[in-house]
Amino acid sequence: MSHDLVLENGEIVFPGQTIRRGSVAVKGGKIAAILDRGEVCNAARVIDCTDRWILPGVIDPHTHIGFGDKENDWATETATAALGGVTGLMSFWRHDDLGASTGPWIAAGEARAETDFGLHFGVTSRRHVAELGELSKRFGVTSIKVYLMYKGATGAAKGFTEVDDALLFSALQAGAKVKGGVVGVHCENTEVIPVFRDPLKAAGRDDLAAWDEQSPGFLETENVFRVAFFGEKAGCDVNIVHMSAVESLDLVRRLRHKDRPRINVETCIHYLSLTRDCPLGPIGKVNPPLRPQSDVDGLWEGVRAGDIQTIGSDHVPRKVSTKGPDIWSATAGFPGIAQVLPVLIEEGYHKRQIPIERLAATISCNVADLYSLPGKGRIAPGYDADFAIVDPAGQTSVAADAYPSFSDYSPYAGRTYRGAITHTILRGTVVVDDGWLSPEPAAPGRYMHRAP
Ligand SMILES: [Zn+2]
Repeated sequence: MSHDLVLENGEIVFPGQTIRRGSVAVKGGKIAAILDRGEVCNAARVIDCTDRWILPGVIDPHTHIGFGDKENDWATETATAALGGVTGLMSFWRHDDLGASTGPWIAAGEARAETDFGLHFGVTSRRHVAELGELSKRFGVTSIKVYLMYKGATGAAKGFTEVDDALLFSALQAGAKVKGGVVGVHCENTEVIPVFRDPLKAAGRDDLAAWDEQSPGFLETENVFRVAFFGEKAGCDVNIVHMSAVESLDLVRRLRHKDRPRINVETCIHYLSLTRDCPLGPIGKVNPPLRPQSDVDGLWEGVRAGDIQTIGSDHVPRKVSTKGPDIWSATAGFPGIAQVLPVLIEEGYHKRQIPIERLAATISCNVADLYSLPGKGRIAPGYDADFAIVDPAGQTSVAADAYPSFSDYSPYAGRTYRGAITHTILRGTVVVDDGWLSPEPAAPGRYMHRAP
């Protein structure tokens, strides 16, 4: 039998399971067979993967496509993502009228994207909650996000006037009725923040550590309790997105119970590799804030133990000119989608000896399971032929101008990570070839309709 593509003689990383030498045969965009070492088969193209990892394509569970240059982000940010071994991403979609706006937004993505993509709905109003059941069926969306940090004055400044505990609880009730539904929550107690922020501002503080001090980790942890407790009462699985504080993880460990709804945890590569003490200034401003090294180390132990299910970038592709002039007026968030795999390999695999198959699970099969992505996230016959091929002996040096992103800076700039992503393959199409974006075909990305 002749195949379209064979990834020959590599170290196949089966996420969450094992690593084994062999080849992967691809036909019609799907994985056709896993071949043992030395087994040969014909194919239109063979990529020699000797001494390379054949990883499942990265699915970044947390991105903000559209925060940079709106529709053009679909092209620039997904191309950037592909260079980082990403074949799928989940992006947050917020709009007053989700029913009218979601179809055109998906069409804009399908016209431009270099990776597959799915959406999480941002729920900021009672109307969103009321419409959730219908919208989730129509658009195949099983996950939503509630922004507890947009309560009260903080939300009003952004035009959100309905975010409160009633909205959270009713969103959990509505989420419980969605098949495969999971409610993600931005946990940060915004009502307490001024208690810390006002004196810091009055004292003239303008450093990155002050951003942590104005919203310390326990304000996240307090919200985590509320979300988990309400989730249990509403009978809805929850997801603590972008967890930043180890105290929050300790709480989740205590609250988890096999007979209760699931408490999933996501963290992001910046909480695993950057701290409040990095010399980044306002570039490092993000919500929740970067924390001390002890939190970084504690979250890594959560990854090692499997207590953290998914890892994302929280990619926000704005210009560096928005990151100032001081810590208080800078925008929050920064780009990072191309660094997910490099950070996990350097900080997780090399520095902390966490097996590559466990790290891979957090950015492939665990994401696919949590968000009901059929045919994604595993290396097995019948699954989509999505891969990141990595040369572990290579290196990745981060420079913002190496990527087509709308963003013109990176908090990871100047860092060098062990491991080089040589190829990215999306449903059998080689999107990144020997480290370079392929010009053809343009925009192979498709919308991922969820099928729980
Ligand atoms: Zn958030």
